[in-house]
Amino acid sequence: MNLSKLNDKWDALKEDELHALQIRQLRWFLKSRVLPFSAFYRARFEEAGVSPDDIRSIEDLRYVPFTQKEDLLPSDDHPKRSREFVLIPEQAALKRQASTVMSALRHGPAAAKKLLEEEFRPIMMTSTTGRSTVPVPFLYTAHDIENLRRTGRRMMEVCESDPSWKHANLFPFAPHLAFWQAHYAGTGWDTFCVSTGGGKVLGTAGNVGLIDRIDADVLIGMPTFIYHILQQAVSEDRYWANLKRIVLGGEKVPDGLRRKLRGLAAELGSGNVEIMATYGFTEAKMAWPECPSNALGSPTGYHISPDLGIVEIIDPETGDILPPGHAGEVVFTAIDSRGSVVLRYRTGDQIDGGLVYEACPGCGRTCPRLLGTISRVSDKRELALDKLKGTLVDFNALERVLDDLDGVGAWQIELRKRNDDPFDADEVIIHLAATGTASSRDLETAVRRHFRAVTEMRPNRIDFHSNEEIREMQGVGRVLKEERVRDNRPTAGELAAEDSTESEPMEELTR
Ligand SMILES: [Zn+2]
Repeated sequence: MNLSKLNDKWDALKEDELHALQIRQLRWFLKSRVLPFSAFYRARFEEAGVSPDDIRSIEDLRYVPFTQKEDLLPSDDHPKRSREFVLIPEQAALKRQASTVMSALRHGPAAAKKLLEEEFRPIMMTSTTGRSTVPVPFLYTAHDIENLRRTGRRMMEVCESDPSWKHANLFPFAPHLAFWQAHYAGTGWDTFCVSTGGGKVLGTAGNVGLIDRIDADVLIGMPTFIYHILQQAVSEDRYWANLKRIVLGGEKVPDGLRRKLRGLAAELGSGNVEIMATYGFTEAKMAWPECPSNALGSPTGYHISPDLGIVEIIDPETGDILPPGHAGEVVFTAIDSRGSVVLRYRTGDQIDGGLVYEACPGCGRTCPRLLGTISRVSDKRELALDKLKGTLVDFNALERVLDDLDGVGAWQIELRKRNDDPFDADEVIIHLAATGTASSRDLETAVRRHFRAVTEMRPNRIDFHSNEEIREMQGVGRVLKEERVRDNRPTAGELAAEDSTESEPMEELTR
């Protein structure tokens, strides 16, 4: 009952009513689905001495221990750790539940059994990506696929698409949330949506040709790849006046990059294209969109589906829940998932505008929205800029400088060791393609000045390249995700092994 009201009015409830319904749904979810069937959380709750009935308000979520990324990783004691997060129904426990009895009475035992199988049997999987850790699988049941279709449909509604439009999904074919969320957005909205598989499948030319042939209204994909597609289309004098929306996922989208994409779309004949970002992650099993904001001039934030999960913003140091509008770390709790389920999952993503509940200035929806810029904690890297000391460099800020700077097209930050000596200092080289009319010298001065403003790190060199060269460096058409930061520093171990195999830069593909 609570859930159907939440589902129907997901974007129209006031904060108090929303929280009350969310907490009731969470308590039901914990009692009848998570604690009976998830080995990990049963142990966690016992250990913490918490019961679902202790959670009477959003503030009471603090009694539930956080789930960390490390909790999901296999260890020697738990080689199949991620399985402990999967709801695996225990027949005896299910039979005791009133809902099962009711279902059997209403539909007959055979039909009731089938419904339970649909609810609990995993039928699809996506996984996290990452260079430093093993991929963590996340399982979906038919129930979860229905929710993926639901969040996909909402994505189309919030982005103000139209079922009669033609959508091109340019995310790479991969077991990653981004691709499947976009795919199910198409089926959920009952609209035309062609998936190109991204650059690795059809190449830049193949993608440009296909978009041209279908005369797409909407492009959905990763910002770096879409930038290359638009840039290539401009260089071929294509005319894409039908283009209305560009929906981005899988990477951060700084304002400067939006401006550059909008500029390219205008050159293609689409002067008022709406650029919208989405935010999602493997563990949430869904993504949240922005609504159109050209008329407002600034992005409207990620519109959360509050019937499927609870988002909190916490102080990353103390773990305290922060009030609305405060910058902090995004924490996610599933309240209607089956298959893999996480509670109070710490994403490691920091959002500078926090979570807000007032009506969206763009669309008027009152669903919670995440506002501002998202940065990942792990984007801070330790560089040995001289041989004596390490310096912590915020790559979020560096990337933003390059994306925001007019005149800078596609780029790559390359990390090297001086003289390729693993024991020498680190070097930072900026590779970029210039756009516009500024001279290389002026552009170099501008890049250096902006870098100086955000970091004590000085680039050792700034190299200018053609668009084709940058495309080659980033691995467009070769790798699943274009590489904007390339670490070419040899390690002592690697030097010994001389391993030259190309590795996939798949980090945060689904982010
Ligand atoms: Zn809105």
